[in-house]
Amino acid sequence: MTARTVDRDRLAALMEVEEQTFVASHPRSQALVERARGSMMGGVPMPWMGLWPGAFPPFVDRAEGARFACVDGHSYVDFCLGDTGAMAGHSPPATAAAVAERAANGMTFMLPIEDAIWVSEEMSRRFGLPYWQYCLTATDANRFALRLARAVTGRPKVLVFNFCYHGTVDETFISIGRDGTIAVRDGVVGSSVDPNLTTKVVEFNDVDALANALAEEDVAIVLAEPAMTNEGIILPEPGFHDALRDLTRRHGTLLALDETHTICAGPGGATKAWGLEPDVLTIGKPLAGGVPAASYGLTAELAELILERKAVGATEADGIGGTLAGNALSIAAMRATLESVLTHEAYERMLPLGERWVDGVQRVIDRFEAPWSVSRLGARAEYWTAPTPPRNGGEAKVTDDEEVDAFFHLYCLNRGIMLTPFHNMALMSPATTEADVDSHTEVFEAAVAELLT
Ligand code: PMP
Repeated sequence: MTARTVDRDRLAALMEVEEQTFVASHPRSQALVERARGSMMGGVPMPWMGLWPGAFPPFVDRAEGARFACVDGHSYVDFCLGDTGAMAGHSPPATAAAVAERAANGMTFMLPIEDAIWVSEEMSRRFGLPYWQYCLTATDANRFALRLARAVTGRPKVLVFNFCYHGTVDETFISIGRDGTIAVRDGVVGSSVDPNLTTKVVEFNDVDALANALAEEDVAIVLAEPAMTNEGIILPEPGFHDALRDLTRRHGTLLALDETHTICAGPGGATKAWGLEPDVLTIGKPLAGGVPAASYGLTAELAELILERKAVGATEADGIGGTLAGNALSIAAMRATLESVLTHEAYERMLPLGERWVDGVQRVIDRFEAPWSVSRLGARAEYWTAPTPPRNGGEAKVTDDEEVDAFFHLYCLNRGIMLTPFHNMALMSPATTEADVDSHTEVFEAAVAELLT
């Protein structure tokens, strides 16, 4: 049975029950969202918070470790973890203590604090790149990486993979349509320029297309996640990263790896785990345990070139920066998170939990003979309503069944399990337990039983 052969009437009926259950059990969230409509567009701080399955999002009351409670008093095992922003667990004590201490002693100065050196040395140890800079979001880190690459190569274009996500970076909002036309990605608003002028896009794992696109030698930098994670987990095929590195080197193109999500692969991300050699590494989200912070690392050659050409730092308005970038609060939170929370020992617990989650889901898939699949990258895992995981973004877009995803999502939420919305991803934090993982397996099994028997 494929997602297409799921009985749509049955699915619709089950979904209606879940929607009613959700509304009936969240009266306080419902009242808050109604009040919020008077002061926030759509009743939420950002429009995407209203896109979750269910009539409205649950309002959060408090959270600790791998759990949060909503204002209606329900407790949830949180596998969404703020879409990786809370991968360190909610309010890990070491980070919370460092934040409290820093908050009492000055939070932002336009001057460095000593912790910045510790953090940079640790980033070098983890990822292998020697020089580091700081900003507030992964989006910023990526924008700065592209700008620097253009500055040092003198080339106009960047290359990304189809249906990538690297934050709200204009150049990356480009996709290949089903008819092969390349244009602004559906749904993106207010683009300033046609991304065909700034960007080339090819499918992930397509070495031939990559070789053709780079052969013109007009691409300053390739920006890629080591494994795609934003349309689901799409792993690189054997040899893909070697080809990517060889081709970029051969054509004088820089390579930036965005480890914002793939930090789930290990303490040094996929870069360390797979021995990758980027020129630039960008990362945001979980670095400071939930406090806004991001960073980008550079090779010695690139850092020298940037300084030699005075590509940055010659004026205070060089296009790279942000007044709060590198602020003391973020730096102190990064130090505590890297030193005491997202440690090597923590990954030794998180990675087996990822395996356990996959084993549980696979057992259910096998039991019901559902032609679905499950994939994993370290401490991150998810199921696909397709017999094999897709090999690129274009395939992912057409294979996934959004209605089934929404049903599983809401079914789990109504039973105290929160998955990352839209494609049902689960992330393990240092505070996640085996019992948490098993509770998901049980609920998933019950959902599949209702849908398929
Ligand atoms: N890079 C990757 C790989 C991401 O998944 C995201 C967000 N989902 C970003 C960058 C952007 O992060 P932020 O929105 O925190 O800037």
